[in-house]
Amino acid sequence: MTRLAGWGRFRPVETRLARMRDDGDVAAALAGGTALIARGNGRAYGDSAVSPGLTLDMRGMDRMLSFDADRGVLVAEAGVLLADVIAAFFPQGWFPAVTPGTKFVSLGGAIAADVHGKNHHVDGGFGAFVDWVEVMGADGRIARAEAGSELFDWTLGGMGLTGVILRAQIRLRPVETGWIVQDMRATQTLAATIDMMEATNDAPYSVAWLDCVTTGVMMGRGLAMLGRHAGLEDLPREKRRKPFATPQKPVLRLPVDLPAAALNGVTRRVFNAAYYWNGRRKPGPRLVDWDSYFYPLDAILDWNRGYGRAGFLQFQCALPQEAARPGMAALLEAIAASGEASVLSVLKRFGAERGRFSFPMAGYTLALDFPANDRSLKLMERLDAITLDHGGRFYLAKDARMPRAVMEAADGRVAAFRAMRAQSGAKGLFVSAQSERLGL
Ligand SMILES: Cc1cc2nc3c(=O)[nH]c(=O)nc-3n(C[C@H](O)[C@H](O)[C@H](O)COP(=O)(O)OP(=O)(O)OC[C@H]3O[C@@H](n4cnc5c(N)ncnc54)[C@H](O)[C@@H]3O)c2cc1C
Repeated sequence: MTRLAGWGRFRPVETRLARMRDDGDVAAALAGGTALIARGNGRAYGDSAVSPGLTLDMRGMDRMLSFDADRGVLVAEAGVLLADVIAAFFPQGWFPAVTPGTKFVSLGGAIAADVHGKNHHVDGGFGAFVDWVEVMGADGRIARAEAGSELFDWTLGGMGLTGVILRAQIRLRPVETGWIVQDMRATQTLAATIDMMEATNDAPYSVAWLDCVTTGVMMGRGLAMLGRHAGLEDLPREKRRKPFATPQKPVLRLPVDLPAAALNGVTRRVFNAAYYWNGRRKPGPRLVDWDSYFYPLDAILDWNRGYGRAGFLQFQCALPQEAARPGMAALLEAIAASGEASVLSVLKRFGAERGRFSFPMAGYTLALDFPANDRSLKLMERLDAITLDHGGRFYLAKDARMPRAVMEAADGRVAAFRAMRAQSGAKGLFVSAQSERLGL
């Protein structure tokens, strides 16, 4: 038995961890009859990728099976990381069509959470670029679920609760260079931040960092980072010769748990102000390499140890378009009033809802992180209530503590998800600590 948690390191669970190397291993695990869940690279923040019974470590299934270099179509096993895909195909001009804020996620994890990137408002989620998935169900049989089929739509966003994803076919995006033209714009108020994102809705990538410490009229001031892949013509002559060359940066590692006090209210307030003023100094377009633009947090490996042994919690909700302005204002007011400033407060625009259980809905999403302590847990209860009041829902890939009643009140799709699980035999077999907590 081993104690295992999600990326937030909050409340580890005792589980038996077994490394899967092929379909036969997965079939044998299922035949054992113990409740189990698949785990990719453990980048979900909470308890979705750990089971109180058996946890299947899918990183042993990491073979790339075929690649169509004309169309950028890849067939690969679920344990392949996006970082592996980038290393193999980026030099040939192919990049993931949708990527979350870390490249250290597995294909299985990206599919099970139907992850979103900075381009959801134009391209949709990861699932929009998946042609099919092969899933091993409760009976041990492998089903190939084509895009648009019922099993496909439940599996994208189904958090591993429909079965074990073995393989998938995904489409990559052609790019001419490894550079992003980033347009940084500072705003003075929350209304201005949202106005800016509405006005730039056709930007391929868009994300805003919000200062969630400042109160009063400047509450919600932010830095919007718009982006698009640079073409060859955007590069200065010296970069054109090797358009995919990525500047070498040191990769740092946090070798020890920092004491929880290192990230206290004062340091977080100072960080928010410094980040805002630093960003304001560099407005307008400039070239940023792909790694820095998409994955700034990957520059420090194990950065999740920065919050100390108790770990940390993410809160991420989505609010429908019509409720986004008052809802975001209410969330920020509650945070500022609590004195528990989040270090990372990220606002993104979402496009249309897809799939049966995927998180995004047309509107806005806010992601925040807090150290795991009683004050944060209390604040998050308040944020739950505000989200519910504004017709919003919560992201299961970030959740580690939501009560079942909140999930049920937020998401009218829960009953149909439960019925599908009962009918397919998935209910008693595919079980995570999260699905038990939420009664899924
Ligand atoms: C720094 C950072 C930034 C992030 N930014 C974003 C972001 O911008 N957008 C976003 O959407 N998410 C984001 N995330 C969350 C992350 O993308 C998701 O949690 C993703 O699911 C993690 O993939 P993983 O391989 O680590 O999966 P795990 O954490 O191991 O598992 C996540 C879920 O996938 C299921 N799963 C994994 N593999 C399989 C499989 N083979 N078959 C069936 N189910 C499986 C698990 O059961 C679990 O429910 C971020 C996470 C971090 C740490």
